[in-house]
Formats: sequence, C-alpha cells, structure tokens
Amino acid sequence: MSGLLVVDRVTKRFGGITALDGVSFRLQAGETVGLIGPNGAGKSTLIGVVSGFIPPTVGRVHFGGVDITGWPPHRVANLGLRRTFQAANVFHGLNLEENVLIGAAGLSWSAQLRGEARRILESLRLEPKAYPAALTAGQLRLLAVARALVARPRLVMLDEPAAGLSGAELELLGKLLERFRLDGTTVLLIEHNVSLVFAHCNRVLVLDLGRLIVDGPPAQVAMDRRVVEAYLGTG
Ligand code: ADP
Ligand code: MG
Repeated sequence: MSGLLVVDRVTKRFGGITALDGVSFRLQAGETVGLIGPNGAGKSTLIGVVSGFIPPTVGRVHFGGVDITGWPPHRVANLGLRRTFQAANVFHGLNLEENVLIGAAGLSWSAQLRGEARRILESLRLEPKAYPAALTAGQLRLLAVARALVARPRLVMLDEPAAGLSGAELELLGKLLERFRLDGTTVLLIEHNVSLVFAHCNRVLVLDLGRLIVDGPPAQVAMDRRVVEAYLGTG
C-alpha cells in the first residue's frame, strides 16, 4: 500500500460507544494534514490507535509499508512515529532540555541530539536549563511539541498543541511547524484552532461521530456544508 501512513477501515468501540467507525485515509511523506471535528468526534482515539496506545477493534494501520497494528507504543515510536497528548506530561525534576530529550528515549543522548533539543527550545524562547515549574500552561504545551520533534520523527501527530497558547506562543508554534514542514517531516495536526490548521495544512480531514466525513484541501473543507453543520457553525 502506498503512503507513509495507511489507516485502513479502522473501527474502535469502547463498550457501546463507537469512537471510530470505519476510518480510512493515507498520509503521503511530507504532507501537513489537519484533523478537525467536534469534541468526542474520535480525534484523540484515532491518534491513540495509530500510535499503538489503543488497539483497534477492527482494521489495520500501516506505517512505512509495515503493518504496525497491535504494536506497543515504544515499538511504533522507534519506527519514527511520535505523538503528543492533550495533557502535557512534564517531569518536574528534569530541566527543559532533559524534558525534551526524554522524547528520544531509545536513542542515546548524543551531542547532536542535545544540540537539536537546545535549538528547538530556543526557537520556542525556552531556556534549556530552566525547570518546568517556571513555565506557563502554554509553554508546557510547546515543551510537549519539542519533545515529539527532537528525534526527527518521520510522522508527528500533535493533539491540540495550541490549546491555551497566548498569541505570541501561537506564533512560535506556527514557526516551528513551518520549519519542520520545510524539513519534510509529515505532520498530523489536531486542532480546534481552525485558522492554524488552514494556515499550515495542505489537506484537512474532518471527523464527526467517529466517521471521516471530509478529506480535502482547506478551501474545499471550509465551504463544505457538512463541515459547517458539524463543526464550524457550532464553533
Ligand atoms: P475527540 O478527541 O475528538 O474529542 P475522543 O477520541 O477523545 O474524541 O473520544 C471519542 C469518543 O470515545 C467519545 O465519545 C469518548 O467519550 C469515547 N472514549 C474515548 N476514550 C474512551 C475510553 N477510554 N473509554 C470509553 N470511552 C472512550
Ligand atoms: Mg481529543
């Protein structure tokens, strides 16, 4: 199957709740794709299934031509597929550089990797030797993004990275996304901030009640009647 990521008819049920209902799509290497949809649409569940945290009830996930369905998260991560969580998990006993390097677990913390951690932190105006207690909620989210990017993943999936960010922090996040896009990193961006999605993504997927209802370029998605009804109109 062609495509860096192939999600093939994935269904996930939690008891009586169908969080994902026959979802299929592909991501090509180098794409920046947005994933939007109302609360409870299944966005985080989809990231969980792709990253190995949530086993699908039905369906397969292929990454880089390998069937990774049912693989544990660390094995998936080692293939170069990274994610952030909606809640930023922070290690208070570690400084910011170390908090970022945690994202490269499994690789040794080489001088090159340390340099990359410092570069990403500095681009986010974060001091590598500072400790997380000094950060705002928005800066903690940026720290989580830095952690997902430090090991140069082939695909990174960001779960609402802009939630709670100030205008200035949002701008720093936008610049970082742009840099990684230019480097060829494939990005799946879950966001309620639709303007961030439309500014950075060449394609947008829309989930509603576990179903993928639209997959197209931003201009098409913004005008889609189902999207307006399911999401934009209620925003
Ligand atoms: P989104 O990220 O789009 O807001 P989620 O993927 O978090 O949506 O949730 C999709 C649906 O699955 C919701 O109805 C949610 O309540 C349900 N759900 C998610 N995780 C679980 C779980 N671990 N157990 C039971 N229901 C869950
Ligand atoms: Mg979510």
